[in-house]
Amino acid sequence: MLAPPGAGKGTQAEALASNYGVPHLATGDLLRKEVASGTPLGEEASAYMDRGVLVPDALVLQLVLDRITKPGLLDGFVLDGFPRSIRQARLAHEWGVQHRRTFHAVIHLEVPRDVLVTRLLRRGREEGRSDDTEETIRRRLLVYDEETSPLLDFYKERGILIEIDGSATVEEVTEEIERRLDELDLS
Ligand code: AMP
Repeated sequence: MLAPPGAGKGTQAEALASNYGVPHLATGDLLRKEVASGTPLGEEASAYMDRGVLVPDALVLQLVLDRITKPGLLDGFVLDGFPRSIRQARLAHEWGVQHRRTFHAVIHLEVPRDVLVTRLLRRGREEGRSDDTEETIRRRLLVYDEETSPLLDFYKERGILIEIDGSATVEEVTEEIERRLDELDLS
């Protein structure tokens, strides 16, 4: 799931994971859990998260791979929030080659910038996420533009990018994602 903050990737990834009966692995959620539990990894990550910049690759990779490989290698999963840079995409690809795994599809939710900001500010008020403040939102969107959006071309060139209008209702977006995935051979 590849989308800017506020595009609804968490909500859609959750629905997708439950429809396919596979785990939903959200790096942001996993990191927030580490922060809340006060683990060394969480302590190291929290300063980056509060500033709205990317946490070092090694920390994120460790979290994701732990979930994918333990206790056994998962058959399938929905990744939400990873990879988030070309370097992470290359690391994920190298891991996939070694373990004979590949991403079947990369879903991009397209949402206009003003809608993203409105949604994030509302989430900040309702859920109290510490990185949903105006200044941090601006930085997270900038980080998305600079570091994450190059992945769109990276996956388009590999022929697995699915572009979805993320400004429709939650249900409409879920239906559209399912319709587009049904067209693929996921065997
Ligand atoms: P999210 O919940 O996906 O919006 O992520 C919240 C924050 O967690 C981001 O602003 C980053 O600081 C950090 N984060 C989540 N996923 C990654 C990742 N793949 N690489 C680096 N940092 C990440």
